[in-house]
Amino acid sequence: MIPILKEVMICLRAGRVTLPYPFKPMKAPDRFRGRPSIDGSKCIGCGACAEVCPPRLITVTDTGTTRCVSMDYSRCTYCARCQEICPVQSAQLTDDFEDATANRGDLKVSVELELVPCETCGKPFTTKRMLAKMSDEFNPPWLQEKFPVPDWFQLCPDCRLEKTGVALDRSVKHD
Ligand code: SF4
Ligand code: SF4
Repeated sequence: MIPILKEVMICLRAGRVTLPYPFKPMKAPDRFRGRPSIDGSKCIGCGACAEVCPPRLITVTDTGTTRCVSMDYSRCTYCARCQEICPVQSAQLTDDFEDATANRGDLKVSVELELVPCETCGKPFTTKRMLAKMSDEFNPPWLQEKFPVPDWFQLCPDCRLEKTGVALDRSVKHD
């Protein structure tokens, strides 16, 4: 009997050792890796995150003139590779750790982006935002007056190759 009483005394002296969560909200610690998200206002639809995601839970699908970047984070391993690779800080891990849900659809996010058509064949080939970023990086605005973005920027890879090939052929003939 005495050992049991001693044990009870020890427990009572220790007081409350558990946190009142979920009755009181809890904040995640700094640099916590929680639910991933895609910021639709920043995403350019490059698909880099889909390439590096180990469980392949990010998909990029083109339908007509729309590109859809979808993330089903029910299988996320919180590795943060999408965050590291994203060129515009759109894919980010948040500090949200409350993912429990009765509906798997709640664990999906998607972003829709407008595709631009190739100026020669009309086939949609990249997103408007991606083209704008490429133009800015290839030729920053302060340089564009002197050196405008070349015409082939508006072409799909096939037409671009064809056009560049023709140009090269001509230069070879002139030489
Ligand atoms: S954190 Fe890792 S597993 Fe989760 S979406 Fe990003 S790349 Fe994929
Ligand atoms: S989230 Fe980032 S890496 Fe993924 S498609 Fe959008 S811009 Fe590219």
